[in-house]
Amino acid sequence: MPHTESRHIVIVGGAIIGSFCAWSLRREGFAGPITVVERDPTYQCSSTALSAASIRTQFGTPVNIKMSLMGARMFRNIKAFFGDDADIGFQEKGYLILGGDHLVAEREAAAEMQRAQGADILSLDPDELALRFPGIDFNGVGIGTLGMQHEGWFDAWSLLSLVRLAARQLGVCYEAATVDSFETQGAAVSAVGLSSGKKIACDYCVMAAGPLSGRLVAQLGIDLPVVPRKRTVFSFKTPFKLANFPMLFDSSGLWVRPEGKGYIGGIQPPAAIDGDADGDFEPQHALLEELFWPLLATRIPAMAELRLERAWAGHYEMNTLDHNGVVGSHDELTNLIFATGFSGHGVMHAPAVGQAVAELITFGAYRSIDMTPLGWGRIRTSSPLLESIVY
Ligand SMILES: Cc1cc2nc3c(=O)[nH]c(=O)nc-3n(C[C@H](O)[C@H](O)[C@H](O)COP(=O)(O)OP(=O)(O)OC[C@H]3O[C@@H](n4cnc5c(N)ncnc54)[C@H](O)[C@@H]3O)c2cc1C
Repeated sequence: MPHTESRHIVIVGGAIIGSFCAWSLRREGFAGPITVVERDPTYQCSSTALSAASIRTQFGTPVNIKMSLMGARMFRNIKAFFGDDADIGFQEKGYLILGGDHLVAEREAAAEMQRAQGADILSLDPDELALRFPGIDFNGVGIGTLGMQHEGWFDAWSLLSLVRLAARQLGVCYEAATVDSFETQGAAVSAVGLSSGKKIACDYCVMAAGPLSGRLVAQLGIDLPVVPRKRTVFSFKTPFKLANFPMLFDSSGLWVRPEGKGYIGGIQPPAAIDGDADGDFEPQHALLEELFWPLLATRIPAMAELRLERAWAGHYEMNTLDHNGVVGSHDELTNLIFATGFSGHGVMHAPAVGQAVAELITFGAYRSIDMTPLGWGRIRTSSPLLESIVY
């Protein structure tokens, strides 16, 4: 479908993914009307606002690495995109991902693949790790891989505020409303229905509703395996100090990184208690006592002394097929464009996703990063593109 000024794009969900789609469409020259429908302009339950806002290039899937590199380049040069006052506090301090002896060959191969994609990854043995990171006990570790650039953390709320404001300044309309139905005509979504009863006609419908995307498109008879899974973040203080402390992904499954004057961290809940979250944002405090704290104190003994400051829970938009995003058109309703399912890596990938959706709509093809591997086709045929490095 060629783009003309009369085409109307409706984006469902106006957090980081929806806003980057809208802004990128304008940057790629789409001049027609764009309406972003966002049910909660405070974003208090959005994954974006509740995320750990970190970026890594250490993935098992090449397209994810390319997306991260695009994100990192933007984060480094944020003023060039959003003006001189733009600041997202990007701390380019690297991820350190630890693996046991049995993982050495696999992790070396992964690092080699990541380097081939343009990432800057250093492989370290336990002696090298101990020298570089005093105070961390590398007992049981066979390898650590460290991102030397393009990895770290930032302020997701600032990023969202910047892109949303920039989109509005470019004439994107944000409508505070809940999409609760769809109309179709032939092979197209022709309108979205709002809970107020209002209908908005559309030529393209971009699905960027995060963890609720699967439930929403079920109304169209589409089986999108994207569900909300709760993840708890613990914010704490400890006397332990290490100037070059990275985002640490431990071999035990926990993660921890500096945040302000303290740290934040978390751990994936055991499968038995990791069902669909369904509106539940209550932090899982038992994870701290039973898993996170003991494992943390083993890896970093000085962190046994820890004072919890607060905890919060957000929802991963988990793609249960393969832990990867779904980007691109549906095969039957071809003007329905997915931009969802990023399973814990959507903030870092938002600039690349927005760019891809903009290219697809504006030019009918990807020009920057080929997102075909993330397309709907693999969902239709249940052919997972499994992301192996998952936290
Ligand atoms: C604890 C935690 C830690 C994370 N850490 C990281 C990290 O370190 N790095 C990283 O890159 N990612 C991380 N993520 C994942 C990241 O937050 C998500 O991938 C990303 O925010 C997805 O953005 P989104 O815009 O698709 O979804 P959301 O931010 O959830 O936005 C979806 C929006 O759609 C709106 N919406 C939903 N339904 C409707 C409807 N029917 N009508 C209108 N509006 C609707 C919602 O109100 C919401 O604002 C983390 C997530 C969590 C929960």
